Amino acid sequence: MTGAGGAPSTVGGAWVVDLDGVVWLAGAPIGDVAGSVARLRSAGVDVLFVTNNSAPSSEELLARLYRAGVDAGPSDVLSSAAAAASLLEAGQRAGLVGGDGVREALEHRGVAVVAEPPVDAVVVGWTHDFDFDVLARAATLARSCGRLIGTNEDPTHPTPEGLLPGTGSLLAAVATASGLRPEVAGKPHAALASLVRERLGDAGRLRLVVGDQPRTDGVLAQRLGVPFALVDSGVTPAGASSSVPVAHRAADFASLVDQLVGS
Ligand SMILES: [Mg+2]
Repeated sequence: MTGAGGAPSTVGGAWVVDLDGVVWLAGAPIGDVAGSVARLRSAGVDVLFVTNNSAPSSEELLARLYRAGVDAGPSDVLSSAAAAASLLEAGQRAGLVGGDGVREALEHRGVAVVAEPPVDAVVVGWTHDFDFDVLARAATLARSCGRLIGTNEDPTHPTPEGLLPGTGSLLAAVATASGLRPEVAGKPHAALASLVRERLGDAGRLRLVVGDQPRTDGVLAQRLGVPFALVDSGVTPAGASSSVPVAHRAADFASLVDQLVGS
């Protein structure tokens, strides 16, 4: 941890910033996140928002940021849906269990989303539309091609009503029913890390990964070789220990920016 005035090495360059639990919680902005992003940008820091939530389309994600007071374009956001699509090639065919975000990412990649064999892979992202029939079809399709890809493996996600099943729960069901070991694309895995490096152009610009989950955000920071800043505004309660080294810790994103950039 650092005090006010903070470590100058985190200023300039680019920060990777998680969305759920950092920018918002169940859609409601956390503290003065808009002002903090503006302050960071005027200090010369590029902000790349990186989320494991594969469900929203990129348009919906940008609209959510706009409603939170953050101006962002398509190049400012990366999701586990894009990471999953990057594991496939243009011209391939994929079965899909997931929402608009994954469908859009696959189609943008030139991958046809189909319901019947032959397929090259089955991709699982987050969706509310999941039942026995969906599971049976996905497992059969996955068995037919032998390749199962998960956008991410978060077992749950936090909502005002408590924890709800996350993509990891759906993926585990398809993996068990198909007998396949899934490849996982999102944080903290290699596919997403590669997209971050690609998006930044010069990976040496990256100074910090900010997130609320050591298991995903912290391990991504390790993989990218930069410090991890943990905020207590999401799934990790204040004072809870972290499974990976924490370079900076703050109650929320605004406090972190105060620490490292000044108020
Ligand atoms: Mg998070």
